[in-house]
Amino acid sequence: MDFLIGDDLAALRSRVRTFVDERIIPVEDRIVAEDQATGASATLAGLQQQARDAGLWTPHLPVEHGGLGLGIMGMCALFREMGRSMVGARVFHCDAPDQGNMDLLLKAGSAAIRERYLGPLVRHEITSAFCMTEPAPGAGADPSNLRTRATRDGDDWVIEGHKWYSTGAGAASFLIVMARTSDDPRTGASMFVVDRDAEGLEHVRDVEVMGPPLLAHREAELRFHGVRVKPDAVLGEIGQGFLLAQERLIPARLTHCMRWLGLAARALEMSRAYIARRESFGKKLAQHQFIQKMLADDALAIHSGNLMTLHCAKLLEAGNALEARPYSSMAKTHVARTLCKVLDDAIQMHGSLGYSHDVPFSLWYRWARASRIADGPDEVHQMVVARDFLKDRMRLLV
Ligand SMILES: Cc1cc2nc3c(=O)[nH]c(=O)nc-3n(C[C@H](O)[C@H](O)[C@H](O)COP(=O)(O)OP(=O)(O)OC[C@H]3O[C@@H](n4cnc5c(N)ncnc54)[C@H](O)[C@@H]3O)c2cc1C
Repeated sequence: MDFLIGDDLAALRSRVRTFVDERIIPVEDRIVAEDQATGASATLAGLQQQARDAGLWTPHLPVEHGGLGLGIMGMCALFREMGRSMVGARVFHCDAPDQGNMDLLLKAGSAAIRERYLGPLVRHEITSAFCMTEPAPGAGADPSNLRTRATRDGDDWVIEGHKWYSTGAGAASFLIVMARTSDDPRTGASMFVVDRDAEGLEHVRDVEVMGPPLLAHREAELRFHGVRVKPDAVLGEIGQGFLLAQERLIPARLTHCMRWLGLAARALEMSRAYIARRESFGKKLAQHQFIQKMLADDALAIHSGNLMTLHCAKLLEAGNALEARPYSSMAKTHVARTLCKVLDDAIQMHGSLGYSHDVPFSLWYRWARASRIADGPDEVHQMVVARDFLKDRMRLLV
């Protein structure tokens, strides 16, 4: 595997890095504060315009849709840089869930759906949400528990059900909704694009969670009371819901890993700077072996997560999605745990300062803790790895 990237991509990465360091990080606290006070941020909007002017808007999209046609390896290079700020991906408009939803509409949306939603979504005139998870006993870690049901009525489909943790659904203009269309275990689910203002769609509440709201990331609970959609609202074909979910989730998982690696690397750099200047027991913290061990363990974990992510991206780029699956589970589990561990260690190395809001680690940790649950909890990804390894379907020494 070649770890070198081409000159063009290296130059692009360096531009993104400079943009994040010089323009985003100095104002990231202001962006979050403005958003929390008013639900919008003028500072963020200004930076988004700068990203457009710099030709860095939606870089993940194909060129004909206004992006840079990066491919997943190119996304690895750029998303890690953007992830160094919690609001970085939002500035370039390649944050979850909109980024994955754009890809899904491009891949499986009917002409009518693409015309209605894709352009406005790419231009960020509207936002979107992805609705799969349901409160117990519905779909969660196990999607086969799916209870939301779509039934045919004439040409239309009518959706009844209950969802929660639909990130950003409160403010979104449309939702991608996973619903049961038959009881077949493989082909029993389908995806529908539903207008957020559709009759019968109830926004019950935004669920209060461990981390404070971050930009559009509020976790909505929704009820569908006989919500009617036209046949062209189906993504792909009826019965392809589980398949499309896998196709959306594997690259989406990797893009999470890239952003999380960026944040973990920045936290470790901040810890390195602190331990190089703070003294205890007659020497710098950086000279104490316990501290060096923490630093080395974290560096090792970030580097391994980076390699896992690159390897899996390489498989996806070569079109080997099936082979990539257990590696994506491995990368997701490892990188999510690494992010939480690095942030916890950053708090530890900074002592009482680390626990305070004078530095961002406790806030980042509260957001980051979701990474071990969202898009499949650790245990389910470990189950996938164990299953594939037991069946001798994955090579450990690639
Ligand atoms: C911040 C955040 C944002 C999210 N955004 C979205 C979104 O936009 N759209 C969406 O559809 N969903 C979203 N989710 C939901 C997320 O994908 C689910 O939480 C996840 O799939 C797990 O489902 P669950 O919470 O129902 O857990 P459950 O299914 O109730 O599982 C509970 C726990 O049981 C354990 N467990 C489950 N299965 C196994 C097993 N096989 N072996 C061992 N242990 C097991 C795990 O520890 C798991 O955490 C979000 C979640 C969070 C936290």
